[in-house]
Amino acid sequence: TNDATSATNSTNSATSTTSSMPYARVTAVFESIEHESSRLKITALVADFFLHILNTSTPENLTKIVYLFINRLGPDYEPDLELGLGETLLIKAISECYGRPPAKIKKDYQKVGDLGLVAQNSRSGQPTMFKPVALDVDTVFDNLTKIAKSTGKDSQAKKIALIKKMLTACDLKSNEAKFLIRSLEGKLRIGLAEKTVLIGLAQAFVAYEGSSKVGKTIKTANTATAEEVVREAFSQVPNYEIIIKHAYAHGIFNLLDHCQLTPGIPLKPMLAKPTKSISEVLDRFQGEEFTCEYKYDGERAQVHMLSDGLVRIYSRNSEDMSQRYPDLISIAKDFLKKQEGADNNVSSMILDCEAVAWDRVNKKILPFQVLSTRKRKGVDEKDITVHICLFAFDLLYLDNVSLITKSLKERRQVMTENLIPIEGKFQFATAKNSSNLDELQQFLDQSVKDACEGLMVKMLNGNESYYEPSKRSRNWLKLKKDYLAGVGDSLDLVVIGAYIGKGKRTGSYGGFLLASYNSDTGEYETTCKIGTGFSDEDLVQIHAKLHPTEISQPKPYFVYDTTNSNAKPDVWFEPSMIFEVLTADLSLSPIYKAGHQQYGKGISLRFPRFLRIRDDKGIEDGTNSEQVAEFYERQANIN
Ligand code: ATP
Repeated sequence: TNDATSATNSTNSATSTTSSMPYARVTAVFESIEHESSRLKITALVADFFLHILNTSTPENLTKIVYLFINRLGPDYEPDLELGLGETLLIKAISECYGRPPAKIKKDYQKVGDLGLVAQNSRSGQPTMFKPVALDVDTVFDNLTKIAKSTGKDSQAKKIALIKKMLTACDLKSNEAKFLIRSLEGKLRIGLAEKTVLIGLAQAFVAYEGSSKVGKTIKTANTATAEEVVREAFSQVPNYEIIIKHAYAHGIFNLLDHCQLTPGIPLKPMLAKPTKSISEVLDRFQGEEFTCEYKYDGERAQVHMLSDGLVRIYSRNSEDMSQRYPDLISIAKDFLKKQEGADNNVSSMILDCEAVAWDRVNKKILPFQVLSTRKRKGVDEKDITVHICLFAFDLLYLDNVSLITKSLKERRQVMTENLIPIEGKFQFATAKNSSNLDELQQFLDQSVKDACEGLMVKMLNGNESYYEPSKRSRNWLKLKKDYLAGVGDSLDLVVIGAYIGKGKRTGSYGGFLLASYNSDTGEYETTCKIGTGFSDEDLVQIHAKLHPTEISQPKPYFVYDTTNSNAKPDVWFEPSMIFEVLTADLSLSPIYKAGHQQYGKGISLRFPRFLRIRDDKGIEDGTNSEQVAEFYERQANIN
């Protein structure tokens, strides 16, 4: 029954049953979601619509529609698929399309606060000489991709031409222009987060299979399992095209048989929960065998070896870093030669590591700050001065076999038996198995002396020690020496505004407004103002990076106190940068907003101090509002 006919393009859409869908159908659903506040109802709207696509169209079309819903154009690991166009360019396109001066558009924008609406309103009243062909999903998707990929000196003009073409085709009576502009800006702001899209997808498949195969109502328990399956599949293979294709062909409940780790597709890394003390660690792992490893302070590197011998390195954020680390590719090629006497070389592999700056003369680890001075683009191996040592802590896949459902003890054994350490280039993470408090304290102190951040404590045996892609798991705890006095960890927060510098800081920003991402609502909720911990160079560098991202209005998805001037910055930014910050503690605040739905008031950081820019994290991967609330709850003395 599953007709897997491939998607047809827009040229024959009029006749084919698998035709591309009118874009207006998609924006109508966006509109309904925008006006809905109940999460359950939003999920149902998403699921119903996806079910409709499954019933009437192809998996290819469903994939494109899912991407439009999450405002992306392909998997995270594929480069150059980002939208997020600046307001100046969009104002120019809207102005040229409707023949209204940019100043007028800008003024409307200041009034309305939403360029999408401004575009839609500019549209009305325009005389239409002829009725343009309606926009369909294929055309919009293809054009958005062209816009994202367009670079070089004519790219601005090309982008504007494509935007104008699409705006002209928007139906006068629909809201297409509004959502098209918002998509181009990089955020739909309809209160829909990716989490909900995944759940909606699972529900749609359950209903689709229920109606097409057995014709019975599907039980909730089934739906919950399907959600778990889709989430798990996505954390191993973060690619909607592959997931939808397999769910369609084999059924949602068989998805995990078909979506497994694949060298060349970076999986979402497993993450750790913070802890504040060794005794907290001992409480957690009471009676279980656990292991401690150095927590190296560098950059996470997922090393893949594909079956054709190609080596690829991916960041924590699934970005391909192979060009940035040509030296690591050479190192990997060396250690991938198996031990002497072994039958054959490694044929395929996924290895989880931390890449750390290494002093080749004194044979020791260098601090993260040194690593961060490495060039990010156009790196030529022979010009490299900051060398890297790769510290491997987990092996997830070897010779066509996924190891993630083996115990950590077994994974380690396979790792050490198959790969050969090379001093100063490729080493295994220093580890110690002990549950003695004094020994652990010594090991923690030693890790810091050896230029590490502290320890990672991990469950060693049984299914609790399986590798859990994308999960922040309590089977991995991080114990950071420097942060034990505060909340136990640093926070990674998004910079959404700044205060103009005075005195010594004239000419740059003097302080910043930070926010946490709310992964349920897609909003950014303010957490604090920060002005401490910056060196003069930091401020110069940050100003240079953030100045071009200034926007004339706060985004409608910024949640901040409009009445208190302290909580309202002088300039706002398009979210693009994450600061890692320390705090003395967290408290409820009348003017900040993180977690405000839960507590009435928001949670804010007291005495925040800047540590560094986190450019290995995506803007939605920082400490989210839910985690801020967790930190707050975990503080010993809440009153
Ligand atoms: P952090 O701010 O602590 O780096 P994070 O959100 O990037 O936070 P966490 O899960 O909190 O990630 O901490 C784990 C990170 O520590 C990993 O992403 C990895 O880059 C690094 N790391 C260093 N040594 C190890 C190790 N032995 N095992 C696992 N991760 C390690």
